[in-house]
Amino acid sequence: AAMRETRTKKTKTVCTFCGVGCSFEVWTKDREILKIEPSENAPVNSVSTCVKGKFGWDFVNSEERLKTPLIRKGDAFVEASWEEAISLVAEKLGGIKDKYGSDALGFISSSKVTNEENYLMQKLSRQVFGTNNVDNCSRYCQSPASWGLQQTGGIGGDTASIKDIAGAGLVILIGCAPAEGHPVLASKIKRAHKLHGQKLITVDLRKHEMGDRADLFIRPKQGTDYVWLSAVAKYMIDQGWHDDAFIKEHVNHYDEFLEMLAPYTLEEASRITNISEKVLIEMAEMIRDADGTAICWGMGVTQNIAGSHTSAAIANLLLATGNMARKNAGAFPLRGHNNVQGASDMGTMPNIFPGYQQVANDEIRNKFEKAYGVEIPAKPGLDNIQMLEAVENDKLKAMYVMGEDMAWVDHDSNHTQDMLANLDFLVVQDIFLSTTAQFADVILPGAPSLEKEGTFTNTERRVQRLYQALEPAGDSKPDWQIVQEVACKMGFDWNYENPSEIFDEMASLTPFFTHCNYEVLEGWNSFSWGSMDGTDTPVLYLDGFNFPDKKARFGIFEYVPPMEFPEEFDLSLNNGRLLEHFHEGNLTFKSKGLEYKFPRVFVEISHELAEERDVKDGGLVRLISPYGAIKLPVLVTDRVQGKTVYVPMHSTSHDSAVNLLTGGAVDVATHTPAYKQAKARMEVISKD
Ligand code: SF4
Repeated sequence: AAMRETRTKKTKTVCTFCGVGCSFEVWTKDREILKIEPSENAPVNSVSTCVKGKFGWDFVNSEERLKTPLIRKGDAFVEASWEEAISLVAEKLGGIKDKYGSDALGFISSSKVTNEENYLMQKLSRQVFGTNNVDNCSRYCQSPASWGLQQTGGIGGDTASIKDIAGAGLVILIGCAPAEGHPVLASKIKRAHKLHGQKLITVDLRKHEMGDRADLFIRPKQGTDYVWLSAVAKYMIDQGWHDDAFIKEHVNHYDEFLEMLAPYTLEEASRITNISEKVLIEMAEMIRDADGTAICWGMGVTQNIAGSHTSAAIANLLLATGNMARKNAGAFPLRGHNNVQGASDMGTMPNIFPGYQQVANDEIRNKFEKAYGVEIPAKPGLDNIQMLEAVENDKLKAMYVMGEDMAWVDHDSNHTQDMLANLDFLVVQDIFLSTTAQFADVILPGAPSLEKEGTFTNTERRVQRLYQALEPAGDSKPDWQIVQEVACKMGFDWNYENPSEIFDEMASLTPFFTHCNYEVLEGWNSFSWGSMDGTDTPVLYLDGFNFPDKKARFGIFEYVPPMEFPEEFDLSLNNGRLLEHFHEGNLTFKSKGLEYKFPRVFVEISHELAEERDVKDGGLVRLISPYGAIKLPVLVTDRVQGKTVYVPMHSTSHDSAVNLLTGGAVDVATHTPAYKQAKARMEVISKD
């Protein structure tokens, strides 16, 4: 037993499966993962985890891991040395830069890799290759939420901590299903609701578990959240239930706000949203009566053409009722990936440096130019979506994609794949031969979280360290080392020996992180960024909002009605997560326990629709949209109603991926694809 003890290693890590940011110890023996042990010291989850955090780790030892660099030769990939692969990347990217200019290159970073790796990816793009064409997958999900919060409060992050959600008198969930997507956070709401009198309103097209538990479940018409949010705000102001003192002291643009709300009477809102006037009043009363309202939202809000404006409408309602800049209340976009907050915080976006410092601001840009010893273009670069457009227009010639399966998760996958195929040169850095990697010219094998050091930032802006539990598999390397090798091969003298040195450099350039470093983050410790003085800030804006006059601003942005589709596409196609799986599924379908529970995806349809089309549970259907077609078994359920169908976003095969159906429309302000505004028609292949 003693010998066994010495050979078992315990390493503190942070979960890689969602933005809640649970931390725990992973017990390993050689490469074997023995167990996951949560701890009372974990700041977010204490002794809790969910099924993914506990049982989702087999992928690390999967036979399918990429273990050596690969170079395309004709239709095949051949193994290569690191020297060959990195030289080829530098030669080709450098050559394209020389021939067509820096903006012919695009860099995609990842919400799955660490903060330090994201920081280096934006540095590689800006310093080494001279372009602001860098983005990350928050463009696919949460950019509209960050945008709405930046416009109104000045900071694009949750305004308080997960503790404040649990402590709120009322929680409103809009377009998010935390029992599936953010399970440990959901369990905190469940406990507060059951034991501490917390009230719960769930607004969704699908009656998921948190809809079943809610005091009030509301199913509005798709894409109309802006309208009911504005109507509730207007009604509360008309009744005198708003927080007049808070508005006077802390919020600008009140008159314009009143003018903007004027059309949204209860009657008009009810007509547009299908929510009855009585229910709208009930919502307003619940907000009035609550000691603190917390609104959590997800991709049901953001992945719409009006996602950004709706996110601002959420902030407006909270500002009008004094539910910001205080504890136990606030705005909480629930980040999906473990490090989607961190990826944006680190400046892997075309218009910002780390800490949301604007590229277009001369003073800020000069600071980075001085630190990096190069000139950086003042013009913001292209985002994810614009990069693919630029490929189509023959302006963008090469991409470097780290840890992102664009070919699978971007909307209208068929089109994305055509664009990837059109590139002159594609570098993919990943842990598996993803669909995107199959289009690559060079594949660089990175390492998952258990095989490296670094930090992740969870949904509440909390930064936590992960320690290295295992050696990288085969010849794979931590992603920060790979990016560094590319920079060095391009003639830049990067010599980071440890991610802590990268973090320190980032912090020296980013006011939010002035007082954060690896010592502060030692062990189970954590740090929440959010003040310009760089101190720990779990609750934002207690000393004023993040604008020069310290006042918030009501967001004055119009309603954008949902898009129209040709009549033949008669079903509303909704999509989202399952508890057991993560995103495209390339990690969780490789974990035995999770794969066993849900081996493949399906389409949820209502009883009415099943009856109308004469199809039963287990029957097989084809869903067809203007963009593509997929084939799925049917699950008849009362979670969805009428002509709304629901397909989990995790795909098991090339003919079941929901993004073959989603279309090209994007959010008006941020270009986030309107994944939730999709329509399809259904053909029954077999009845049962
Ligand atoms: Fe991991 Fe999220 Fe589950 Fe926590 S709730 S264990 S962070 S997947």
